Amino acid sequence: MKTGQKQRVAILGSTGSIGTNTLDVIARHPERFEVAALTAATQVDVMLAQVARFKPRIAIMASEEHGRALAEKIKQSGLPTVVAAGPAAIESIASDENIDTVMAAIVGAAGLAPCLAAARAGKRLLLANKEALVVGGQLFMHAVRDGGATLLPIDSEHSAIFQCLPEDPATWSARIDRIHLTSSGGPFRQLPLSELASVTPEQACAHPNFAMGRKISVDSATMMNKALEVIEARWLFDLAPEQIEVVVHPQQIIHSMVEFTDASVLAQLGTPDMRVPIAYGLSWPERIESGAARLDFSRLAGLHFEAPSREQFPGLFLSWDALQAPEGTTAVLNAANEIAVAAFLERRIGFADIHAVNASTLADVVPTALASLTDLLGLDAAARRAAEAEVRRRTR
Ligand code: NDP
Repeated sequence: MKTGQKQRVAILGSTGSIGTNTLDVIARHPERFEVAALTAATQVDVMLAQVARFKPRIAIMASEEHGRALAEKIKQSGLPTVVAAGPAAIESIASDENIDTVMAAIVGAAGLAPCLAAARAGKRLLLANKEALVVGGQLFMHAVRDGGATLLPIDSEHSAIFQCLPEDPATWSARIDRIHLTSSGGPFRQLPLSELASVTPEQACAHPNFAMGRKISVDSATMMNKALEVIEARWLFDLAPEQIEVVVHPQQIIHSMVEFTDASVLAQLGTPDMRVPIAYGLSWPERIESGAARLDFSRLAGLHFEAPSREQFPGLFLSWDALQAPEGTTAVLNAANEIAVAAFLERRIGFADIHAVNASTLADVVPTALASLTDLLGLDAAARRAAEAEVRRRTR
């Protein structure tokens, strides 16, 4: 991108929670950003409204069926936007030469292939889709390095860590002692263990501080979201698993902390609003207005911290085990969790079964050599089959 030109942004997953927040930030800065491409899966009418407002060059739906529905509506509206469909079209726009910045906000491992394409094409890659990094691991980081991409974290915890670190990544390893990822503890932090088995998808999706997509909401309730974030942090900041700690902080004012070798700790604070890390990713190394409310220190009640409970959140602790296990184990964990969460949302299994499905799949599926995206996708598919079999055993 030449100086003075607008950043041409592609938003993958534009109809979701992160996608709509990204459009909200972009709309505040029309002189800096141009929405060049939008992609989504099923929400045709939301996409149509976004196309009418932001006038991207291209809009892509994940399936032919939804692509046809969008094309019909766009034609009726007389809008000039081109419509395409299918995973290959999403991958292609992620590496398109007329795109500068890719916001990766698809949920789940479905985001891996377009993220890899953007990384290999050297894009400025704003990564919300943590599952892509959890599955892709080393392969993903090599694609970022070899493609010369700029990888900027959007998860609020990882953005916080990134904001606390010096700009030059080459200095990080000598300075960081450990990092502390904060977690709200989700809606069931204080629920008696005996009641966990009977919680409903509606209760699990009612997060105390954020309105998020359904999958990440359930992950927050089990703290599997934090497990995925531990794995994400290992790759983003090149840390050993034992350098990553998790602390429960229900107010979500401190978004995470870095503890340096001299025992000094830096934290990033702010109101809990995803537009802050999104604005930082879009504008880095500068800063722009995000639309988030400002912290009022005079009205802040005490900040509370506690260690996460192993009994309440057994899933969290799988992350360190998976990181110590053979490469690919984190992809198995992610696949199992995607299947288990979907089954819970469909009311096929109970809340506590999510952890059981994840633990059983980890025991059943042992990764072998992983050299390519094809190998990873094969492992992902094997883990999904094993997790689905475990779900069926539990629903009988
Ligand atoms: P949502 O479920 O709200 O949105 C997901 C987006 O991805 C939607 O646009 C959806 O389309 C699209 N999508 C779903 N499946 C596919 C697929 N197979 N192929 C292509 N597109 C697909 O999720 P969130 O916005 O909450 O989360 C997105 C990612 O960001 C996740 O990885 C999450 O962990 C991460 N994240 C989210 C945070 C949050 O506050 N929400 C915070 C930090 C990270 P459609 O809706 O049209 O079906």
